[in-house]
Amino acid sequence: MPLLEDSVGVEDLVLLEPLGQESLLKNLQIRFEKKEIYTYIGNVVISVNPYQQLPIYGPEFIAKYRDYTFYELKPHIYALANVAYQSLKDQERDQCILITGESGAGKTEASKLVMSYVAAVCGKGEQVNSVKEQLLQSNPVLEAFGNAKTIRNNNSSRFGKYMDIEFDFKGCPLGGVITNYLLEKSRVVKQLKRERNFHIFYQLLAGADAQLLKALKLERETSLYAYLNWEASRVDGIDDASNFRAVQSAMTVIGFSDEEIRQVLEVTAVVLKLGNVELSDEFQADRILASGIHDGQGVQEIGELVGLSAEELESALRSRTVETTKEKVVTALTIIQAQYARDALAKNIYSRLFNWIVYRINESIKVGAGEKKKVMGVLDIYGFEILQDNSFEQFVINYCNEKLQQVFIEMTLKEEQEEYKREGIPWTKVEYFDNSIICNLIEHNQRGILAMLDEECLRPGVVSDSTFLAKLNQLFSQHEHYESKVTQNAQHQYDHTMGLSCFRICHYAGKVTYNVTSFIDKNNDLLYRDLSQAMWKAQHPLLQSLFPEGDPKQVSLKRPPTAGAQFKNSVAILMKNLYSKNPNYIRCIKPNEHQQHGQFSSELVANQALYLGLLENVRVRRAGYAYRQGYGPFLERYRMLGRSTWPHWKEGAREGVEKIIGELSVASEELAFGKTKIFIRNPKTLFYLEEQRRLRL
Ligand code: ADP
Ligand code: MG
Repeated sequence: MPLLEDSVGVEDLVLLEPLGQESLLKNLQIRFEKKEIYTYIGNVVISVNPYQQLPIYGPEFIAKYRDYTFYELKPHIYALANVAYQSLKDQERDQCILITGESGAGKTEASKLVMSYVAAVCGKGEQVNSVKEQLLQSNPVLEAFGNAKTIRNNNSSRFGKYMDIEFDFKGCPLGGVITNYLLEKSRVVKQLKRERNFHIFYQLLAGADAQLLKALKLERETSLYAYLNWEASRVDGIDDASNFRAVQSAMTVIGFSDEEIRQVLEVTAVVLKLGNVELSDEFQADRILASGIHDGQGVQEIGELVGLSAEELESALRSRTVETTKEKVVTALTIIQAQYARDALAKNIYSRLFNWIVYRINESIKVGAGEKKKVMGVLDIYGFEILQDNSFEQFVINYCNEKLQQVFIEMTLKEEQEEYKREGIPWTKVEYFDNSIICNLIEHNQRGILAMLDEECLRPGVVSDSTFLAKLNQLFSQHEHYESKVTQNAQHQYDHTMGLSCFRICHYAGKVTYNVTSFIDKNNDLLYRDLSQAMWKAQHPLLQSLFPEGDPKQVSLKRPPTAGAQFKNSVAILMKNLYSKNPNYIRCIKPNEHQQHGQFSSELVANQALYLGLLENVRVRRAGYAYRQGYGPFLERYRMLGRSTWPHWKEGAREGVEKIIGELSVASEELAFGKTKIFIRNPKTLFYLEEQRRLRL
């Protein structure tokens, strides 16, 4: 039963009166200051990152939440995890838990809380424990390779993750499947000031013993590596050396062999060493400035690490072969091109290594196809992003969020509708903002922005980011969710914040201006063929397997799908997966930009509330009846208000509730009596009941 005491605000925003952006924020703030970081909107959990350890987790709390139903205790992620797990077990309904929010808002911590809750309550036994261990140990491994220190979060996930945990009919875990989305691979070669590369590089250098370092041909000093931002190499509260040991042991628990672990580390070392391959101008006979490699030793060592001749690698890094039907033409790369090629190679090796690690974990935790299973999916994915400069990455991330919003609205409405139907209460249509027009603008198969981008990437002739933009401007000049300098000029609106190389989309969460620079490049995501062929020639099973297209026998003229097409495809699969399950939402909010406890920046939170669509959520949720409660618990709480029901009531719970309501003469249009629950339209009615109750206590 939600508490309505003013001192801690309302526990469920559905009960907020009056309802508005301001009162919503105030309520979150009051609660945050009282260290009540969780608040509900119906069955949605809002979580405000406390940036401090609160004494509300662990076995004791898990045990408590396990024994109570959703509204009986304070809002908590455990309560949500409990509902999801119990309905999976008892009602045979697959569940998914969607966790969204900005970087640093607490998504990954929330997903770990869910996982540890489920692990604690879901059966025992040696077999079961070993599956649980494997599932839990996948976290440190993925974090080592996929997380990094950023300005916003010392342990920021730089990839999206969806994990299906699969259970048998008794609710014991069998295994799972992990899907990863869009690793931020640009980080491999470049980081912002005060940010770091992926954790694993620092872990390896700090934690490997002298022998291992020597075998990997590495030095311990991070400052020796061009790809590592030495300025940020140490992070308070992160012990790279001990994490390295934890990662190695986690890999072993999951089932990586020692040989596999060694190969993973070798490939990691190759990436690090590639960054130190220095390319410089070389004056050639034909007077073309071309790249030469200065650090011959580095190339030699990389070659030795992965069984590749130094000459082969060097030539792949310096030149490009173009094959026509008649002949092969080898051209030397300019220094700019060669640097670009080297970095592209490093990014490619690393992101493919990451994909392989996910694949390898899945091999260990996957469940046989024949088994009938129940599934709980956990989605931990980047929230809506509006940065100073927004590029291709923000574009696809925001597209994904637009789709998630669509799922959210549709599923929430559907769920409401179904509950009304189950309870035999008439349903009234709810007006809401339908964002399919924006989804369409981006994803339409022939006319969407992604399709236009692909078309431009594949078109012969001179294509560039600006021809792409011109195309968009022409096509969408009339679209109500699209803007650009050109369309603005046509309408005589002048907005100086928008550059000529930009377009703007009016997302459900607000307007975002994207700069098209390098959209084509990022979408193409091409690696010179010479490089993939060189990698394929390596006598290193893992590295070789990462570049199947380098096999000369595999000459396929079909080009691989573009980055945009791949992303769109995986989003579509994700959506299908989510629609087949019962959704549970955790909305994470970051209270301040400084990773500080006790600080609540209203402006910052207001933006996030907007991006998360919280107000819309409350509106939808109480479109019909704001509040509902089973007859039993309702009677228990308000029995004292009825002359007939107090002190003893012998008849059924529903009759008792009807009696109380009748005696208090609450207006009948305020209420509906469902099959198992009473529905209350306006929170004021509930407040009235609470007030009466308080007067009598
Ligand atoms: P996100 O995944 O949304 O980027 P994280 O889950 O990594 O954010 O959280 C960022 C940091 O915030 C964590 O490293 C941790 O220090 C802190 N944090 C997040 N959630 C909690 C929590 N429930 N209790 C205490 N600290 C938390
Ligand atoms: Mg995260």
